[in-house]
Amino acid sequence: MSEGLFGAIEAGGTKFRVAIARGRDVIADTTIPTRTPHETLTATIEFLRTWEDIRSVGIACFGPLDLDPASPSYGSITSTPKRLWEGTPVLAWVRDALGIPGAIDIDVGGAALGEWRWGAARGLDHFVYVTVGTGIGAGLFIDGAVHHGTGHPEMGHIAMERVAGDKYPGRCPFHGACLEGLASGPAIEERWGMSAGQLSDRPEVWELEATYLARALRTFTYVAAPQRVVLGGGVMQHGGLLDLVRMKLEEQLAGYVTSETLRGPLEEYVVAPAHGQDAGLIGAIALAMEAANA
Ligand code: ADP
Ligand code: ZN
Repeated sequence: MSEGLFGAIEAGGTKFRVAIARGRDVIADTTIPTRTPHETLTATIEFLRTWEDIRSVGIACFGPLDLDPASPSYGSITSTPKRLWEGTPVLAWVRDALGIPGAIDIDVGGAALGEWRWGAARGLDHFVYVTVGTGIGAGLFIDGAVHHGTGHPEMGHIAMERVAGDKYPGRCPFHGACLEGLASGPAIEERWGMSAGQLSDRPEVWELEATYLARALRTFTYVAAPQRVVLGGGVMQHGGLLDLVRMKLEEQLAGYVTSETLRGPLEEYVVAPAHGQDAGLIGAIALAMEAANA
């Protein structure tokens, strides 16, 4: 059943977007800055409480999260650099305060679910949802469900082969020059001394960015054999970057074709999300519906 009212929370490192949806349509929403867990979650719960008859709540949350259903801290944030949030039982807190069923997933897992139900990955059994923004994250959707493994994949932190001549050390606090360390929005800004949005007329910036993203997509392609890659996030708003990534990926794959999907031009293989910057919130609605039907 996907009728009735649902609560949806896109819990991000800088802001929470909180919405009420009737079916999949947002009918009210608000944005709450991410401060202490107590301040932010109290305001989130207050907003949702003004609506009666919410069936369930879905949360697409920044991580890392404990997503092991057998764990006593299922649905809590684990070892985040955002120290104030470490150990916060986000799911239990919200669900218990509202007294309704709830579901949580990592932000990119939620976004993948939303794109699968209503977006650019409808009808697919296997795909990857990748976001390139303040960080880089990916939701892996395998055999008709978001893949969790022992928690959730961290595909933004894979090791990268450097482009010759690139001296930028990378900015991941854990790995330096991992994918996120080399190619996130803040990495672009630090490397070139200007925000990504202001670098639109510098082709060398996008050439390098597309090369790193294509290397990552090559790895994701060979590891997961997806039918599609949905590639979004703030950085992908740069006009022409999506096409450049497709071109570079075609070069990277070098004609070593592992599936029918990769035989033709890559326009249908690497696509933009249907919900753009709303993918996380739409995913939270999809999670709420799963909780209501569980
Ligand atoms: P978050 O990851 O926090 O959800 P976004 O997905 O909105 O954030 O991505 C934010 C990043 O996108 C910032 O680093 C910003 O510089 C970059 N960005 C925003 N607009 C553009 C643009 N037009 N071209 C390239 N990068 C952009
Ligand atoms: Zn890293």
